[in-house]
Amino acid sequence: MVPGMKVQLLIPPDVRTVRFARPVALLAAVVALISPVASAGSLDACIAGLRKTALSRGISTSTFDAAMKGVEPDPDVIKSFEYQPEFRTPIWDYVAGLVDDERVADGREQMVRWDSVLGEAERAYGVDRHVIVAVWGVESNFGRIQGTRELVRSLTTLVCANKRESFFRGELMATLSILQSGDIAAESLTGSWAGAFGQTQFMPTTYQRLAVDFDGDGKRDVVNSVADALGSTANYLERAGWVTGQPWGYEVRIPENYAGPSGRRTRQSLAQWTALGVRRLEPVQAGGKPQPADSTQAALLLPAGPKGPAFLVFRNFDAIYGYNAAESYALSIAHLSDRLQGAPGFSTPWPTDDPGLSRAERREVQQRLLDRGYDIGAVDGMIGAKSRSAISDFQSSQGLTVDGRAGLRVLNALRTTPVQAKRAPATAQ
Ligand code: CA
Repeated sequence: MVPGMKVQLLIPPDVRTVRFARPVALLAAVVALISPVASAGSLDACIAGLRKTALSRGISTSTFDAAMKGVEPDPDVIKSFEYQPEFRTPIWDYVAGLVDDERVADGREQMVRWDSVLGEAERAYGVDRHVIVAVWGVESNFGRIQGTRELVRSLTTLVCANKRESFFRGELMATLSILQSGDIAAESLTGSWAGAFGQTQFMPTTYQRLAVDFDGDGKRDVVNSVADALGSTANYLERAGWVTGQPWGYEVRIPENYAGPSGRRTRQSLAQWTALGVRRLEPVQAGGKPQPADSTQAALLLPAGPKGPAFLVFRNFDAIYGYNAAESYALSIAHLSDRLQGAPGFSTPWPTDDPGLSRAERREVQQRLLDRGYDIGAVDGMIGAKSRSAISDFQSSQGLTVDGRAGLRVLNALRTTPVQAKRAPATAQ
């Protein structure tokens, strides 16, 4: 999570909140134009400035010098920062990649394994365990993908290349404090290009404010201790205003041709929404989500417009939103938490004839492209630039709309088109 940046760091690029990449060639051209990271002299000067700041904030010279020893700018970090994809990722792609059967099954397994820790977290912070696990699953695939970039290097690069300098300077100073505390070893302090790290991808300043030692070993280690990470996430959500016992929201039906208010910031009481004809779709069943009182403030979300699924959301949706300021993110976490409790998918389908794909289906798209001789890199379910380029090429060969998007239509075309129609490999630049 990086406040204000709307970048979901460990989520593959194709399902980042925002957009699809522009065609590979153009992207390469843009990257080539990016000004080089600080030259050696200016880097030294930058680090000297950082040293002064760090020492004034109580970082010892030995901590600083050890952390900064041999640090060189990481050009990939700048590329990631500058990345400005062009097309919006449809919400159905975003949700399909984050909330699929695989993640639900993995999450259920983790809930059994970490049952007692989750029970303690619920007691300590009053936050629903399904939401804690959903955050964990989306942020790092249950700890499996925490990011491999050295935090000190990434953050120094961003500061010294003047990228949102004051923001990243604060994160770098927080990282140095973590090192000095000894809570997390230097070799464990790796993460995303922007500095989010650990099982639930805290930024260093967030860690400083909210991480807790939940396994009681005296260290707040959200990288190597699942208990610390889950406890810290519960603490985060509680501080973000979690209301114990209240659902995040639920799916609703709106009247046909509804033209009333909507949007996360437009709140009114549940009674007022009912008066407008908004109706809860999920059954209120024993052991399911409670029905909030009529006076509860709620907002109506129409993430794909009035023809798609609609949701009434309460205070807890905002708590999740606080974790990573994107409604598509919050809805994915919320929905995953419901699926972990056994709920089915949304009742109302997304308004598209070309739905998004699960990670298993994305891997199938990649495998079928590979079978056709396309260079798509590893079959990992992450649709990156190479996969998009290959999809565009395949779409073009089939007379389909060329957008590089891995959707059901492309998958079906790959399934039904004979493999012998092999084309020259699309070489990524
Ligand atoms: Ca601990």
